Amino acid sequence: MALLPIRLFGDPVLRERAAEVTDFDAALRRLADDMLETMRAAEGAGLAANQVGVLRRVFTYEVEGDAGAWVNPELLDVSEELQPGEEGCLSFPGLFYPCERPLRARLRVRDVAGDERTVDSEGLLTRVLLHEIDHLNGILFIDHLARHDRKDAMRRIRAGELEDPRAGAGTGAGGEPAV
Ligand code: ZN
Repeated sequence: MALLPIRLFGDPVLRERAAEVTDFDAALRRLADDMLETMRAAEGAGLAANQVGVLRRVFTYEVEGDAGAWVNPELLDVSEELQPGEEGCLSFPGLFYPCERPLRARLRVRDVAGDERTVDSEGLLTRVLLHEIDHLNGILFIDHLARHDRKDAMRRIRAGELEDPRAGAGTGAGGEPAV
């Protein structure tokens, strides 16, 4: 396994749509293993392939002991009920802002072997899954922020305040993980 460099905001790959995976082969399994290792080293709760410069629809996650890699996710349903909470992103190290998300979601995904499954999530896992699906579509968490928070984020980025991603900046002051 290998640690992969995490792309930061400003890298155009973060604004591109990742392509469907068609080959469930050894290269896909290795990518998933490397992404899991990279995500854990950065103390993040999720990582999308775009964030390591690969435009394939793959992401890894780890929430409350449940970890894995999912491929070609399709969002089937989200709850109208929302959850408050702070959110961060490994591509914006050190930045955390309030970001409202649906409380529950239902997804159809494939595992790295290509087997299809349906996933029902709640709480933090839903936040992570929706954040990663956004990444695969070139959407970033700052797109969801209140206008004043987005302006604050852009000001801090321009001021060079993004932390070094290798400094373990994957956790916010309140313990919330970056995804
Ligand atoms: Zn992210």
